[in-house]
Amino acid sequence: MSTALYRRYRPESFADVIGQEHVTEPLMQALRSGRVNHAYLFSGPRGCGKTTSARILARCLNCEQGPTPIPCGECDSCTALARGGAGTVDVIEIDAASHGGVDDARDLRERASFGPAQSRYKIYIIDEAHMVTPQGFNALLKIVEEPPEHVKFIFATTEPEKVIGTIRSRTHHYPFRLVPPARLQDYMAELCTAEGVQVEPGVLSFVVRAGGGSVRDSLSVLDQLMAGSDAQGLTYERAAALLGFTDSELLDSAVTAFGAGDAAGVFKVIDSVIETGLDPRRFVEDLLERFRDLIVVAAAPDGAAAILRGLPGDQIERMRQQSAVFGAASLSRAADIVNAGLTEMTGATSPRVQLEIIAARVLLPAAAGEAGYAARLDRLERRLEVGGVPTGDGGAAHPVAHLPPAQPQAPAHGTVAPAPAATTEPAARAAQTRAPAEGPAPVVAESPTHHPQTAVEPVPEPAVEPTPEVVVAPEPRAPEQQAPQPQAPEEPTRPSAGGLDVEALRRSWPDVLGRIYQMRRATWTFLSEHAQVISYDGQRLVLGIATVGLANAFRVGSHAEVVRQALIDTLGVDARVEGVPHDIGSLPTGGGAQATSAPATATAPGGGGAGAPAPTAEPRQSPPPTDVGVAAPVGGPSGADWGSAGADASAAPSWATAAPAPAPQSPTSPPEPTTPREPDDSSVSADDEDIIDAGAAGPAVVERILGGTVIREE
Ligand SMILES: [Zn+2]
Repeated sequence: MSTALYRRYRPESFADVIGQEHVTEPLMQALRSGRVNHAYLFSGPRGCGKTTSARILARCLNCEQGPTPIPCGECDSCTALARGGAGTVDVIEIDAASHGGVDDARDLRERASFGPAQSRYKIYIIDEAHMVTPQGFNALLKIVEEPPEHVKFIFATTEPEKVIGTIRSRTHHYPFRLVPPARLQDYMAELCTAEGVQVEPGVLSFVVRAGGGSVRDSLSVLDQLMAGSDAQGLTYERAAALLGFTDSELLDSAVTAFGAGDAAGVFKVIDSVIETGLDPRRFVEDLLERFRDLIVVAAAPDGAAAILRGLPGDQIERMRQQSAVFGAASLSRAADIVNAGLTEMTGATSPRVQLEIIAARVLLPAAAGEAGYAARLDRLERRLEVGGVPTGDGGAAHPVAHLPPAQPQAPAHGTVAPAPAATTEPAARAAQTRAPAEGPAPVVAESPTHHPQTAVEPVPEPAVEPTPEVVVAPEPRAPEQQAPQPQAPEEPTRPSAGGLDVEALRRSWPDVLGRIYQMRRATWTFLSEHAQVISYDGQRLVLGIATVGLANAFRVGSHAEVVRQALIDTLGVDARVEGVPHDIGSLPTGGGAQATSAPATATAPGGGGAGAPAPTAEPRQSPPPTDVGVAAPVGGPSGADWGSAGADASAAPSWATAAPAPAPQSPTSPPEPTTPREPDDSSVSADDEDIIDAGAAGPAVVERILGGTVIREE
């Protein structure tokens, strides 16, 4: 029969005690300098080395070469007190749990008055000292207060506060701590090597968790696993099964199902937890642990491996994906719910039922409270289509509307901003050809809001002649709402809705970039340095790229596909991704669509040089015109794409529109007409130079939208 691992490897000197340097080093120093006290109190959690250290201290004190911090190991005392030694009559261990009464204390007091038999000191090690009764302590008080020269006391306890103050104040108190998991894990890896046992990755972290930071408990667990191991050594599977830890595959399925909001999947996992005989409470603990790991991974994608030591690399990679699916707010909320559920998992209710209730709560994003709302927002941003989000109507409808509009608007540009909006929709429908719509799109989205019809409908804009033509105007009301009407009350509201889309996407952009970072570093670098979100209408995401050359590079390369995939992964949105040259300095406003629009327009003019009209004139389809580089970029000049760009971000309709035939209109109208909601956009004309001053364009916008400071403009 072999002795237990923790006994076989019990440290014989302070240097071998792991994880307690804050205690062993001062003790060794005291021994070295000869400042030895007559009573010590070692406190700390169970199994962290208190009793072992007390024995080592006794060995140090009684070594023939001592007192010394490093016992010689060869003298009679040292060998007697070594592992497997016979012990000596002068080192007396008393378990206060069974000998803590007043009689035992009196007995001890009497014996202590006799000198040691063979060694330098008579040393009493009183284990579980908190179990000594008050009477016992009082009986000991005198001798601890003024002990004979040859007597030393070492009290060891898990509850130092229960040792009466008069005793405690006579001692030097050394608090032991739990051993850090990483340290313990390293130590056990050494033991396994010493024992010649193979260990699969992940097993030792199970052991450490099972041991709860106690060296003795951890070694007992390890001992048990070793006893049951075969030629393959310690396998992950067996360790998980024997220790009752949830298999990581089961946790993966659970977390993935939670992330996807797949209730059926979650309950299926719970069913298999029960079916395989796992303890539901253990499963909840493991789930909580997993959520914590995911939070760490989400917070420190690159540093996670260093923090979550002992986890296999592929596991960390999986968790990286899982955390991306959740989002920080959802993760934190899920962890809170599971944690609260864990503390409530007591009592008579069936653990299975409790587990299912916890799962239901995690799945229910509508849960009240800030966390619940944050999680819902996470989800909305990820899954809902842009347009529909706010209103709740048919988000889908909007987006659709947006897309189409592009071309017609062209005319609008210069002149009548409002018109474009209206136009767009019809246009879109009518002539899908043109991409441009975007500029208008935003508008549409906002104002028309829900009515898909709008799109169809022609928006008869006064200003814009082209529009009407294009569209067939099915519904009467459409016109009213959108274009014509100068300030319809409704419209104002809408805008915000529409605005949210781009906004939401901008807010999530860091997450998307994070995903891209994982997918393709080159694209990440490119985007983080040169790109920004200009517009998003539910189907198309337009990125403003710093220069024409870079925009072309973006178009030619595979960046767009990477971005598309990242959008799907992080937000659940499948959108066409386009890059247009864009002067970063002149960013469209972030705020609502409206704000954005304004700037765009403003820019346009600049770029165009001449008024708005000019931009319009340009063919949108053609690739980015030179001017693009200029402020105007966003809008008009660019090909269809640009037009779109303008759309979201800005009201930009005007330029977008430009390209198309409708040139005529340009001259027309000024702002007033059309768009109710966004008077600005509409009203803005190419020559409107106030925009920048008004903070609707340029650096002010950048700062407002991106929360950054413009360091330099190019
Ligand atoms: Zn010795």
